[in-house]
Amino acid sequence: MDEFALIRQFFAAAPCAQPGTGVAFGIGDDCAVLDIAAHEQLVVSTDTLVAGVHFPAEPPPALLGERALAVAASDLAAMGATPLAFTLALTLPVASSDWLAAFAGGLNRMAIACGLRLIGGDTTRGPLSLTLTVFGRVPVGKAIYRHGARPGDWLCVGGSLGDAAGALPQVLSAQASHGSDSDYLAGRYWSPQPQLVLGQALRDKATAMLDISDGLLGDCAHIANASKVAIDVHLADLPLSAALRNVCGLAQAREHALAGGDDYRLLFTLPPEHFPDLHASFPEIAHIGHVRSGASVHLLDAQGLLIPREIRGYRHFD
Ligand code: ADP
Ligand code: MG
Repeated sequence: MDEFALIRQFFAAAPCAQPGTGVAFGIGDDCAVLDIAAHEQLVVSTDTLVAGVHFPAEPPPALLGERALAVAASDLAAMGATPLAFTLALTLPVASSDWLAAFAGGLNRMAIACGLRLIGGDTTRGPLSLTLTVFGRVPVGKAIYRHGARPGDWLCVGGSLGDAAGALPQVLSAQASHGSDSDYLAGRYWSPQPQLVLGQALRDKATAMLDISDGLLGDCAHIANASKVAIDVHLADLPLSAALRNVCGLAQAREHALAGGDDYRLLFTLPPEHFPDLHASFPEIAHIGHVRSGASVHLLDAQGLLIPREIRGYRHFD
């Protein structure tokens, strides 16, 4: 199977690659062409996933397809954007039909779930890696950045934290599951659900937002630095799933919630008056801290006392 047959069979023919709203021309020419309304802005993000760095060296292909797109779509959620389209640059050591069919199936499932159309890409031979570029749209001026947090805002998250980190031992060793709690955690690792509906609901409400990919504390520091504010995080208020507490115990579950990446929950700051209505529509969101004037991120215990710790997320080349 040559490159062009591969593209036709597994990608151009996929349901998510068929023509649709916002896509004037998709796969098959030198560029794709998107329609953008005059009152909207285009929102763009690229993510590269490398085998052995961002996922296990021999991943289940269907799950890899789902996870790669979920991770990319989560960046659109974090801007409050409406998904539009994506491109896929795929580097593969060998072209196995079984592998490609499973990968494209997973990718397609997540693309349809997110409302993202595949509009192009590139296909090359080499060590397994994927680069996805996602395109979304927002009404002019409505994108939610990291730099808008203000003293008095509440710090909130889109749901339970630490589940993907809790799944890592099992995911990395490709161990058989130890029951339904482990299955739940592995599902949260392989198939994180980008919080697109919540992200859009936060337009005109959240003052700053990002999706947690490096760990809660490290990502809080990104908002604190960009917004030039201090953020207090309350350890006792972190939402933890029952599955994570059962598998790891409370202390380790909290550690995963603070430092584990890969959850792709939205982290946002919000004037408190917006919280009740939002919580009624999205009961999984949680208030976990406060924004105040000052600098950097502070972890507090249930009595409000400072828990000393170094705050930093994952860094390549460290
Ligand atoms: P070019 O030589 O102009 O860069 P290519 O031969 O690389 O074009 O690709 C042909 C068409 O197939 C283009 O529309 C490109 O966007 C698309 N394409 C290539 N690889 C992929 C892929 N993995 N997924 C989706 N579309 C792809
Ligand atoms: Mg090309």
